[in-house]
Amino acid sequence: MPHAPIVSLRDVHKSFGSLKVLDGVSFSVERGEVLVLIGRSGSGKSTALRCIDRFERIDEGAIEVCGHRVDDPGVDLRALRQDVGIVFQSYNLFPHLTIEENIILAPCAVKGMAKGQARDLARQVLAQVGLEDKLHSYPEQLSGGQQQRGAIARSLAMQPKVMLFDEVTSALDPELTGEVLRVIEALAADGMTMVMVTHEMGFARGIADTVVFMHRGKVHEAGTTAILASPATPELAQFVGTGL
Ligand code: ADP
Ligand code: MG
Repeated sequence: MPHAPIVSLRDVHKSFGSLKVLDGVSFSVERGEVLVLIGRSGSGKSTALRCIDRFERIDEGAIEVCGHRVDDPGVDLRALRQDVGIVFQSYNLFPHLTIEENIILAPCAVKGMAKGQARDLARQVLAQVGLEDKLHSYPEQLSGGQQQRGAIARSLAMQPKVMLFDEVTSALDPELTGEVLRVIEALAADGMTMVMVTHEMGFARGIADTVVFMHRGKVHEAGTTAILASPATPELAQFVGTGL
């Protein structure tokens, strides 16, 4: 069987009303690969990410994720979302549940996992993010960095085949950013396939297999991290120059 990418977007178009947000976007991510999406605010990064998980529907083009035809109206959303984990900028944890309860919720409700087994899994994923001792804490008792690591653990408990990260450190104080980035780094080293939007350029240089620079809804430049050192277009040069 020919091998297929884990995520592929082909000539994807998406508008909100008269605003064209994705204008023929194509990229693909192989198993175990880390793709970092960069670009100015408003360039379409979050929308591209949200289309992968079908939080947004596309107008034209094709998206395939772990064998699911995402643009097909009949796509099995439940199966798709079991394969795709997503973590956003704002903390995703339910405030009225402990960290353990947050983590076992979806495995029990969606996968029908037994509670005992889900609790074992919770311990395992919390160890992965260095939060073993916070099992019975509530989100508000944790720092922002710990909450974000808890949100990552909750995603991992669904054993996704690909993880999407949308500016997961942007809301954090600088001293808490590192602990979250280290968890993502460890996941990448473990072979997790990921698509990540980040403004942490130093981190992107260290972790990305592929960098995709978006500008006005288009993939303006893409390649290895070498494109950051020697941009081919004035737009990317300006972006890396200002770091914004
Ligand atoms: P980025 O993540 O690169 O900052 P986004 O994908 O969030 O960019 O947004 C791209 C453009 O689409 C922006 O102009 C934004 O205001 C607009 N946009 C995003 N989501 C919506 C929506 N649900 N309705 C209308 N406009 C939207
Ligand atoms: Mg965004």
